[in-house]
Amino acid sequence: MIIMGYWLLIALLAVISANRHNIKYKNEIEALSEPGVLCPNCQTNNPVENEECINCHKNLKEVLFYKSSEGVFDFPDIEINKTEIIEYKKGLTGKRNGKTEKYSNLIHDVEIKNYAIEPYIQINFKYKEKNGNIKKKFLVVNKYNLEEVKKALDLKKIQYRDIRRRK
Ligand SMILES: [Zn+2]
Repeated sequence: MIIMGYWLLIALLAVISANRHNIKYKNEIEALSEPGVLCPNCQTNNPVENEECINCHKNLKEVLFYKSSEGVFDFPDIEINKTEIIEYKKGLTGKRNGKTEKYSNLIHDVEIKNYAIEPYIQINFKYKEKNGNIKKKFLVVNKYNLEEVKKALDLKKIQYRDIRRRK
């Protein structure tokens, strides 16, 4: 009886220590994946409350939409902020190549369409260049981010038509 009680105690201690270890581990994971704001410009993870990037001083409060997809495809990363839409171009390896393309607020005729590859969609639009020329452009975004993109466009008061075909 005493021996059984002894083993029970050992087992109990083992369970407690395993749990404690798990809790510690879980806290570490949470700390690592703590929600932060990824700077679109330099991809530094910033504390949520930061108004500007701790690394490059970009104004983070202006950013309405940003998702990094580095390494997934060579589709550019897209940032939608209060004054422009920015494409961060990538090379064939899926890594950024340092080039950006910026589209001003003169964005119109926005159409959301299906893209050839799932789960992506394309956003077609026209924009005015500095010399006054109207140009066509399309962006590719993951469809799971579409609601956030739409919200950003709404905040910019840019109208769009969702003309995706049903599949
Ligand atoms: Zn930054």
